[in-house]
Amino acid sequence: RGGQTERVIPFAQPGNLTRVLAVASGKGGVGKSSVTVNLALALAKQGRSVGILDADIYGHSIPDLLGLGDARPTVVDDMIMPVPAVGGLKVISVGMLKPSRDQVVAWRGPILDRALTQLLSDVYWGDLDYLLLDLPPGTGDVAMSLGQKIPKSEVIVVTTPQTAASEVAERAGTMAHILEQRVLGVVENMSWLESRCPHCEETHRMELFGSGGGLTVSEALTDRLVYDVPLLTQVPYDEALLAGGDRGVPIVESNPDHPAAAALLGLAESVA
Ligand code: ADP
Repeated sequence: RGGQTERVIPFAQPGNLTRVLAVASGKGGVGKSSVTVNLALALAKQGRSVGILDADIYGHSIPDLLGLGDARPTVVDDMIMPVPAVGGLKVISVGMLKPSRDQVVAWRGPILDRALTQLLSDVYWGDLDYLLLDLPPGTGDVAMSLGQKIPKSEVIVVTTPQTAASEVAERAGTMAHILEQRVLGVVENMSWLESRCPHCEETHRMELFGSGGGLTVSEALTDRLVYDVPLLTQVPYDEALLAGGDRGVPIVESNPDHPAAAALLGLAESVA
């Protein structure tokens, strides 16, 4: 391994059965990483073997969302062993390659490309049913090199309901198409907040961040890609999801009965 030897990415080999799902968004802060960890855990709850590669060089928030703290992978026989997490998830984050937590990863182009190759080829993933990739927001270097390295990888686009967010999300989907990755569908996050009216006791949906973004992206991508790119689910805004993220326990684990968790569990079913 290493040196001049060509690195082999198992997921790109003919006959490899792992489904590689890249979670993309047009911009940061829309909930891409939250969707990634909850989808991963929901798939694991179906009995699947699931890995997460956190390739978001700007955010790399996956370890925190799973309560992994400063856990580092170990190296056995030249292979990097992923960090085990809740539900049997196997996790590797670009953040784990940094010498210290507060260092900024400022990789570009070839270095980034090499780091991604290493995380795909030198990590002992074992037999995975799913590998989920948390991509950096936007249509940048990582998405492009992933599409080249693993052409069979499929893309899930996360957006908020605002039109501004959906425009950039649409571009992310179009990029996936150029790279000939299949776009599985769209997830709209923070779609509404459910609250009980103190006067009439009824539950109302408050659209905090506008509406229609998910559907707009789904329709625009369906138009452009000439196959059905469905709106897979709408995830409400939920304090428990936010709190769970801070505590390192995904909502499908902490509050599976909440509508937000139900939406994410349903997402796993529609993806599987
Ligand atoms: P991204 O990966 O797109 O940057 P994150 O998943 O890190 O976004 O989410 C950004 C912040 O918003 C986090 O604090 C997360 O807990 C919170 N968040 C994401 N989705 C929801 C939601 N549906 N309800 C409440 N908070 C959410």
